[in-house]
Amino acid sequence: MSALYPNLLSPLDLGFTTLRNRVVMGSMHTGLEDRAKDIGKLTEYFAERARGGVGLIVTGGYAPNRTGWLLPFAAQLLSSSEARRHRRITAAVHDEGAKILLQVLHAGRYAYHPLSVSASSIKAPINPFRPRALSARGVRQTIDDFVRCALLAREAGYDGVEIMGSEGYLLNQFLAPRTNRRRDQWGGTPEKRRRMPVEIVRRTRAAVGPDFIIDYRMSLADYVENGQSWDEIVALATEIEAAGATLINSGFGWHEARVPTIVTSVPNSAFVDISSALAAHVDIPVVASNRINMPEAAEQILADTNVALVSMARPLLSDPDWVAKAAADAADEINTCIACNQACLDHAFAHKTVSCLVNPRAGHETTLVLGTTRRAKSVAVVGAGPAGLSTAVTAAQRGHRVTLFDANEFIGGQFDLARRIPGKEEFAETVRYYTTMLDKHGVQVRLGRRVGAGELTGYDEVVLATGVAPRLPDIPGIDHPMVLSYPEAIYGLRPVGRRVAVIGAGGIGFDVSELLTTDDSPTLNLKEWQAEWGALSPQDAPQTRGALATPIPAPAAREVYLLQRSKGPQGRGLGKTTGWVHRASLKAKGVQQLSEVNYERIDDDGLHISFGSDHRRPQTLAVDNVVICAGQEPVRDLEEQLRRDGIAPHIIGGAARAAELDAKRAIRQGTELAARL
Ligand code: FAD
Ligand code: NAP
Ligand code: SF4
Repeated sequence: MSALYPNLLSPLDLGFTTLRNRVVMGSMHTGLEDRAKDIGKLTEYFAERARGGVGLIVTGGYAPNRTGWLLPFAAQLLSSSEARRHRRITAAVHDEGAKILLQVLHAGRYAYHPLSVSASSIKAPINPFRPRALSARGVRQTIDDFVRCALLAREAGYDGVEIMGSEGYLLNQFLAPRTNRRRDQWGGTPEKRRRMPVEIVRRTRAAVGPDFIIDYRMSLADYVENGQSWDEIVALATEIEAAGATLINSGFGWHEARVPTIVTSVPNSAFVDISSALAAHVDIPVVASNRINMPEAAEQILADTNVALVSMARPLLSDPDWVAKAAADAADEINTCIACNQACLDHAFAHKTVSCLVNPRAGHETTLVLGTTRRAKSVAVVGAGPAGLSTAVTAAQRGHRVTLFDANEFIGGQFDLARRIPGKEEFAETVRYYTTMLDKHGVQVRLGRRVGAGELTGYDEVVLATGVAPRLPDIPGIDHPMVLSYPEAIYGLRPVGRRVAVIGAGGIGFDVSELLTTDDSPTLNLKEWQAEWGALSPQDAPQTRGALATPIPAPAAREVYLLQRSKGPQGRGLGKTTGWVHRASLKAKGVQQLSEVNYERIDDDGLHISFGSDHRRPQTLAVDNVVICAGQEPVRDLEEQLRRDGIAPHIIGGAARAAELDAKRAIRQGTELAARL
């Protein structure tokens, strides 16, 4: 057992039950909850995490009635027959020594269907459906439904429930004047707005008895106008405690908030002080959450603050063995969540099964199985970008003899560029993970030399993961000295002036614009981040509603034009849950975004452009530099010779197809290939 994390790994006695450590796997809706036929997959998903040592698991949200569905026919727990199905899950988790709570979630006005209800009939800005205001009878019925759901959870073998009262869902809607304009006994004053959630906890405790965990997830900072004040939040916590809750979990920001709370650019442990401040007002344990992903930070939080538990949702998707690795003093083997949202939340919002960019097995535990091979082969992998790294490590884990080549002196490929973008520093954790695992599994790593086809004979399998090279568009003057490729700009290989045009407004054009407008001082400073987004620490401004202030973005380090040829707004291809953060950030930095651009020529005067098919409004952008971010082409120069030599290579990642490439596809293809070798 590790001596490094004594607080993190110590049990927590809740009186009637004991959690084996302080790690909570926070609720993540995987999509597997929505279909009865997926119960086996969901069971294995939870069992794998319980086996990996987590103390307490919280399921994805289950609606207590039909109006509370997130989507039509989404997850619900309304009957004993539904409860019986869950017995597989609870038994599997208990067999592995963990506890599990069912999350009861009523979506309120976030329900994506016409049956939606809320405190008042006010449409959410992120949902086309206008909710119906619950009648007083409807409120009482909904409370009954929460209680019934908790009883069914107990019948199903759960150790308790988490009552979802944050992120802007129904109970949060009752709590905030933004969404509760009622004048009856369920609104009008802070006390009346609190009544429904407090009643739910009180009635649930009375129904389930004393030996069942009731975890109430509270919004500690709504980050929306006319949200709750800190004074109201503290009053709610004390009433929730008095009503019989066992734990209080933390939530930050409504889904419609314009303050990011979970993306990579949010500083680590950004919200812990808020949870700690709340914990000072109650005696029951408070759980910290959001942007905590490594054991050292989790241990420090438990040692230095008032919180008693640490919740992580996505980090347990990316590494089910997170706790076991911490306990074995092997934190460097943790496959760290990089908070990209690309395979988890972006999938959830697109109604696809949730997985993980760095761990494609997440959500696919029963189908992407990585057993030990029965016939060890010699495998050559060319390219140590995400595709090659995932192939090499997975193949070696399965028992193959793997040699990995890269022309660079370092591993990571294009991901090594990504980690240099302000706000994406955490991508370096993935490179660290692969560095450790290559060593652990005995992969022969040959760096610093471009491999020729002749060196690839004699292997049982050859994998081309040679990735992509930046596209050089055919623009007159493209060879002018003021023009830089994006790797040159990101690596700082040549100086970049104060005025810059960026050609291409895809993910990389956005990232390069972020880099160019940010000064060189260290990023991820909490105070600067709070100022930039107008996010307050609510305990410092106890009467301010919604914990919002006027944003004060840092001045832009350069004047940047971001250009694309296609019509319409830029950044439409960015991630569903992260794109708005990138767009808002560039807007705050004053980046001038121009669409429908023709690149006429580049010369000493700058970049000459016009607009539209009729080449109207010709003008010269008098810039010092032009940075090209115009997409990429696959690198497959070895393929032809290999085929001539009678070798049929496996081609994956960017080498297979550069269009719409991202690390999610690269890592998934590498893992899937290695599973078949
Ligand atoms: P590459 O990463 O291109 O790796 C190929 C490797 O092969 C290289 O290291 C190269 O040196 C090596 N190689 C090629 N030929 C040879 C040879 N003959 N001999 C030896 N070695 C050879 N993706 C995301 O999913 N999310 C993001 O947020 C994100 N942000 C990004 C930000 C930036 C600034 C950049 C540049 C990229 C970003 N990406 C992001 C894209 C992501 O990095 C790529 O999709 C991914 O790296 C592609 O993986 P790959 O393994 O196919 O190829
Ligand atoms: P991209 O998204 O395909 O964007 C390429 C851009 O270049 C487009 O804006 C395109 O727009 C322009 N372009 C294409 N051909 C051109 C030409 N011949 N001349 C001038 N402009 C041209 O690719 P990317 O930005 O290079 O990113 C590569 C991959 O990395 C992406 O697929 C993305 O998934 C991934 N990535 C993801 C993130 C993220 O945050 N998730 C961040 C960075 C990268 P027009 O045709 O309109 O000009
Ligand atoms: Fe974390 Fe990205 Fe995986 Fe989601 S997809 S769990 S954010 S690494």
